[in-house]
Amino acid sequence: MNLYGGIDLGGTKIYSIVAGADGSVLGEDERPTLPDHGLEVCIERMTESLAAAASSAGTATSALAAVGVAAPGPIEFRDGIVSAAPNLGWTDVPLRSFLSDRLGVNVVLENDANAAAYGEFIYGAGTPYDTIIYVTVSTGIGGGFILDRRLFQGASGAAAEVGHMVVEPDGPICNCGSVGCLEMLASGTAIGRSATAAVEGGRDTILRELAADPTEVTAEVVAEAAARGDAVANEILDDAARYIGIAFGTLINLLNPQAIIVGGGVSRLGARMIEPITAEARRRSFRQSFEDCLILPAALGRRVGALGTVALAADA
Ligand SMILES: [Zn+2]
Repeated sequence: MNLYGGIDLGGTKIYSIVAGADGSVLGEDERPTLPDHGLEVCIERMTESLAAAASSAGTATSALAAVGVAAPGPIEFRDGIVSAAPNLGWTDVPLRSFLSDRLGVNVVLENDANAAAYGEFIYGAGTPYDTIIYVTVSTGIGGGFILDRRLFQGASGAAAEVGHMVVEPDGPICNCGSVGCLEMLASGTAIGRSATAAVEGGRDTILRELAADPTEVTAEVVAEAAARGDAVANEILDDAARYIGIAFGTLINLLNPQAIIVGGGVSRLGARMIEPITAEARRRSFRQSFEDCLILPAALGRRVGALGTVALAADA
């Protein structure tokens, strides 16, 4: 059986697997990225992590048929370049050639959310369908489109930036330079920011007591407070769900997908978020298109990006 490597490069950790084309994971490794130590150290850590995963699978990196890599930020897929990854401090890094030179095997590079979309399509919640949208809601919001069984990359590989759909024309300024992007209103970071503002604004809420640091309330604390019936926390989650639902309504009208699959930390809230998101999407989309589309939680958990790159490497 051919074995493939998959590396999911994040701002805080590197997660590597060695797996068969059927998605069976035989070895894995996780270690901190340490982006402050510079590009060379980061690439060294990626190769060490993959070697450790290969070793635990009883093989070596050089014996792998191909390696897939998921990186944050837009990718120029033809040249294998990470165009911009602010949380790594990278601009125009030719990651594919750096890694293929060191590993001595063919490397496929993809944006992390696109890779995750492909992972859910091949191995996860998207397997019954031909056209799906994957949306991850965690620190930021990312997306990937599988259209007629193909990963849709756009002109240079930067397609499906769902987090930068404008859902509030006069909303907060986004890091991307635009205003009112979904990511600024409904990501885990945005939920935490709203909660901190509620505490600092003196609102009557248990967020103040639950937060380790009331000047920096996290989305996890908001979820806990909401589950305990806190009205302010529930209002914050409802606002985020409404914005996500507005974006989903537009995506349903534009692409008529069979499913929108929701991953990332916020998706772990399950029905608490999926139900209000679905209700808002219904109000915002054509009836037939809405009825064609299921809004589902992701199935693959933390392995999703790495498994997606394995599937891409196996296809290459
Ligand atoms: Zn933006």
